[in-house]
Amino acid sequence: MSEKTEYSDWEPVIGLEIHVQLSTESKIFSNAPTKFGIEQNSQASIIDLGLPGVLPVLNKKAIEMAVKFGCSINAEISNTAIFARKNYFYPDLPKGYQISQLDDPIVGQGSVEIECNEEKKLIGITRAHLEEDAGKSIHDKYDSSSAIDLNRAGTPLLEIVSEPDLRSAKEAVAYLKKIHSIVTFLDISDGDMSQGSLRCDANVSIRKKGESEFGFRTEIKNINSFKFVEKAINFEILRQIKIKNLNNEIEQETRLYDSQKNETRSMRSKEHANDYRYFPEPDLIPLQISNEYIENIRKSLPELPEQKISRFCSEYGLSIYESEILNSSKGMSNFFEKVAISVKDVKTAVKWILGDFSAILNKNNCLVEDSLISSSDLIDLLNCLYENKISGPAAKKVLEILWNEDLKVEEIIEKENLKQISNEDDISRIISEVISKNPKQLEQFKQGKEKLFGFFVGQVMKTTEGSADPKVVNKILKEKLNQ
Ligand code: ADP
Ligand code: MG
Repeated sequence: MSEKTEYSDWEPVIGLEIHVQLSTESKIFSNAPTKFGIEQNSQASIIDLGLPGVLPVLNKKAIEMAVKFGCSINAEISNTAIFARKNYFYPDLPKGYQISQLDDPIVGQGSVEIECNEEKKLIGITRAHLEEDAGKSIHDKYDSSSAIDLNRAGTPLLEIVSEPDLRSAKEAVAYLKKIHSIVTFLDISDGDMSQGSLRCDANVSIRKKGESEFGFRTEIKNINSFKFVEKAINFEILRQIKIKNLNNEIEQETRLYDSQKNETRSMRSKEHANDYRYFPEPDLIPLQISNEYIENIRKSLPELPEQKISRFCSEYGLSIYESEILNSSKGMSNFFEKVAISVKDVKTAVKWILGDFSAILNKNNCLVEDSLISSSDLIDLLNCLYENKISGPAAKKVLEILWNEDLKVEEIIEKENLKQISNEDDISRIISEVISKNPKQLEQFKQGKEKLFGFFVGQVMKTTEGSADPKVVNKILKEKLNQ
């Protein structure tokens, strides 16, 4: 049997647990800041470390953000959310417990729609709960020991748990992207996966096609990029299929994805809720959330990606395809809209943003938020193009220079002599000169050698050093040659 047919007998079942770092200024239970990348062990307070005698105080902003998320996935919001202690020992958790939620999470069941291979599908969300992040173990700093950085301890996390509704690695990625865009459009997380602001655990099992029971699953921990989620899950599906095809059983375990080797490895056998000795957090009373509070948040939700996609189509005349790409991140969506409301021709703006502008960002491995070309620079450039002050190729040149030098569009056009001549009188005069300098070619053209039209265009471009507007040149040249 070939691997392909063996594979096609099986159906993967996947559920994701996504950890989203909420972008509050301070920690979830203390007033220590939540900045990333600052000096190690400089922003964990005595509360984050759980020193004896300290008491946690819940950060209101974290609650608001969780409720925002809940409303945006049409979930039930709990009126009495409860915090619980999850006890475990790990060097980056000096308290010996993590404050989390178990039985009454702040966000209950909801759902999101994903699109994969042009099919839409509703993915159930079981719950989303608030918890605190742990510190970080650093294994590559010293040769023979590990280091602990507790700066991250106490950073608020929203853990979003999906139903096992996903049926392929591609669907899992589409779902993760959806959650990523919801939390970034809601402005509750920066969503920066490279800094760990959004990371996920993938639960994977397989079953024979047509079966209704789920198989035993493994859980791949802490995957931090879209690409790795897809690769890790695909590796794991294949690994499980190979085991099952040998009539062996899948071990319920927690695994680690090694992106360098592109494989998953066993970390430990799977832990269960009762391993953690959960109990209600004695230092925090149940959280009372009124319906009025929830409704106010629901009413003030910002526009979400789906709404923006359809609004861009109707308001700016974009195709769904264009609108989806322009709304693939909040940064791009905002950038586009800033440009769109100020340019004279939106169609051209779309073409340039999706084309040359995105190409420059990609080339420099840069997010639109960090673009060295501002929206107002691009607006100036597009308007010059619209007004025929410069040609398309010249605009490309200006774009490159905008990225590399601190100059304004007008300054670059001036400095590089890129101004386009589109005044009909000027062009007409230049054409007359060119024709009178080339009587032989004119004669041949009149005798029917129409190819020579291109010769004349070339001569005009040469005389003007490429700055004549080709449309105007063509029009006037036709008139003059056929006189
Ligand atoms: P735990 O807390 O032990 O990790 P949960 O029941 O909370 O277990 O499930 C965690 C995640 O595992 C959820 O996203 C869920 O959809 C997923 N899951 C549960 N059973 C399976 C299964 N058989 N195959 C794949 N995913 C599963
Ligand atoms: Mg789990």
